[in-house]
Amino acid sequence: MDNLFFSDEHLMIKEMVQEFAESEVAPIAFELDKNETFPQEIVTKMGELGLMGIVIPEKYGGTGLDMVAFVTAIIELARVDASVAITMTAHTSLGCLPLLQLGNDEQKEKYLPKLASGEMLGAFGLTEPSAGSDSGATKTTAVKDGDSYIVNGGKVFITNVGEAGVLSFTSRIMDGDNFKGIGAFIIPTNTPGLEIATKEKKMGWKASDTRQIFFRDMVIPASAMMGTPSDGFKAFLKTLTSGRIAIGALSVGTALGAYEKALQYSSEREAFGKPIHKFQSVSFKIADMATEIEASKLLVYHAAWMKDQGISVVKEAAMAKLFASEVAMKTTTEAIQVHGGYGYVKEFDVERFFRDAKILEIGEGTSEIQRLIIFRELLNEISSV
Ligand SMILES: Cc1cc2nc3c(=O)[nH]c(=O)nc-3n(C[C@H](O)[C@H](O)[C@H](O)COP(=O)(O)OP(=O)(O)OC[C@H]3O[C@@H](n4cnc5c(N)ncnc54)[C@H](O)[C@@H]3O)c2cc1C
Repeated sequence: MDNLFFSDEHLMIKEMVQEFAESEVAPIAFELDKNETFPQEIVTKMGELGLMGIVIPEKYGGTGLDMVAFVTAIIELARVDASVAITMTAHTSLGCLPLLQLGNDEQKEKYLPKLASGEMLGAFGLTEPSAGSDSGATKTTAVKDGDSYIVNGGKVFITNVGEAGVLSFTSRIMDGDNFKGIGAFIIPTNTPGLEIATKEKKMGWKASDTRQIFFRDMVIPASAMMGTPSDGFKAFLKTLTSGRIAIGALSVGTALGAYEKALQYSSEREAFGKPIHKFQSVSFKIADMATEIEASKLLVYHAAWMKDQGISVVKEAAMAKLFASEVAMKTTTEAIQVHGGYGYVKEFDVERFFRDAKILEIGEGTSEIQRLIIFRELLNEISSV
């Protein structure tokens, strides 16, 4: 399959990230998860390898590669540690891509070089306590005050924000009593009035930084707006399409990691005098895992490749995210089953993979929302014939 989508450059990226993940990340993945430690040293090294700026154009100091390369890097990282993978993924698809797609030259020049080198992490604030799937129900308001906006409200579940240097977020834009639309802003995270809460205690992705934030009379210049007051939100949502392909890739990597552990264990563990993979019920589980992961990979790579060709991928990105995340949940569940009781204890990595898989069916649009998007796209296709 690699031959289908890969150039020599993609193969090099795959080998480089695989080597890095196995030698630098895998040995500390257990401890990072156990102690819920943000992987700062790994982020610094990923910056040196060019992974933090993988899709940022070279003119801004990035590596200037495409979605296929991005997806490849995510899969290799998630194969050993989903927390490290989401840190790099959220930084790129949520922290950098909205700026690349929506920002003006001044904003790009101000932030992109530092984001590309990994010196600065990016975060993206869309979700609010009562605006998750229904992200248009945002209550955060930015009220025009001369050349500034005064922002009040807050966001929840923001990945990387406690470690980030820059934050993009959405807000209702008010000019006096007039509602102008939902716009998007980009600000440094040391802006007075931005309060960042303590790290959430999560089921999985434990080394990843996730926090609630509050805007309390936060004054920001009007030049911090990305796009226009009325189109910022729509454009912001569009950038989530790439994010869905990226979560699909994280799902493939998480599933692969669990599958490889199950395959190995099934050859080593003996019961009734033979390796457990000699039992058809076990070998069939492994065969199903491998087949479903291959199908996920094809959907994810196909969506990434289409995106690189400039083809609209709203449906394909949603399908890739939906299918791959559900395969990741199923594969990690079965990987525990193959390990029996040992799969339920922390010393075996499959326990971590299982906990890391569940969020894949929730973040960047739940499975239900992906199904809504897919069906909406199917209806559009029917009505346009
Ligand atoms: C670890 C983590 C990291 C995150 N990182 C970020 C981030 O960096 N930035 C950010 O902005 N957000 C982030 N999120 C938020 C995430 O995107 C939302 O949690 C997600 O979109 C779901 O929103 P919600 O939690 O409000 O659930 P809700 O929208 O309240 O959904 C609850 C349930 O209702 C269902 N539902 C809702 N509406 C419909 C409908 N129309 N049809 C059918 N079913 C529906 C959902 O599918 C779900 O099952 C993160 C979340 C987590 C847990």
